[in-house]
Amino acid sequence: MNFFDSHAHYDDPRFAEDREVLLPQLHSQGVDYLVNIGCNRESSLASVLLAETYDFIYAAVGWHPEFAGEFGPESLELLRELAKQPKVRAIGEIGIDYHYMDAPKQVQLEAFDAQMALAEELSLPVVIHQREGIADCLEVVRRHPKVTGVFHCYSGSAQTAKELLSRGYYLGFTGVITFKNARKSLEALKMAPPDRILLETDCPYLAPVPFRGKRNHSGLLIHTLEAMAQTRNISAQEAAQLTLENAKRFYRIP
Ligand SMILES: [Zn+2]
Repeated sequence: MNFFDSHAHYDDPRFAEDREVLLPQLHSQGVDYLVNIGCNRESSLASVLLAETYDFIYAAVGWHPEFAGEFGPESLELLRELAKQPKVRAIGEIGIDYHYMDAPKQVQLEAFDAQMALAEELSLPVVIHQREGIADCLEVVRRHPKVTGVFHCYSGSAQTAKELLSRGYYLGFTGVITFKNARKSLEALKMAPPDRILLETDCPYLAPVPFRGKRNHSGLLIHTLEAMAQTRNISAQEAAQLTLENAKRFYRIP
């Protein structure tokens, strides 16, 4: 089975010891493509470096809301510069997180809005992280109607999903859909058109059952695919093929 991990963090320190062994192994085991996602200066640079090192890896660059406090004009300049690299295919991950509140609301909103404007300027899609701030998040999204992207690890309502889909957004699904409390994610997964679903690990986080709580990696995607297949009434093979085609279209990989 071949698949596309549309959202991973292999620059994370939890991969420091075996990254160079693990990545080629995953590729030979069916991970045809993966996109490493930036969260701040260091991880955006690391994502670009991974993309330069491995043929099958692409990159997204951006400032996660957790690091919005470190975001400034020089960050925007760095992102603009990094986005010139041919394997940088999106701005992300960006957005809102009022659960952890590592930065004040206003600071998060300004960093998010500035990066949405950059994505519009560069004609790149965005990778959005949203937690407990959907109203404010949607306000920023509506302010940039020319921008589309993916709502990563989608767990919002079906109603919000409808608006996002009508605006051209994709929905990303992680190992969370294998968890017992996944009702909302599964509802959205069920109602989304087949061409708007992406498969992702968000590794090292969110390992699927039966590995919940352990370090996640793209090799565990089969468990997420099985849950996806069950919800959509297709085979895991079909779910893999569908999400691979979708991610290639989304990240403009020929
Ligand atoms: Zn992530």
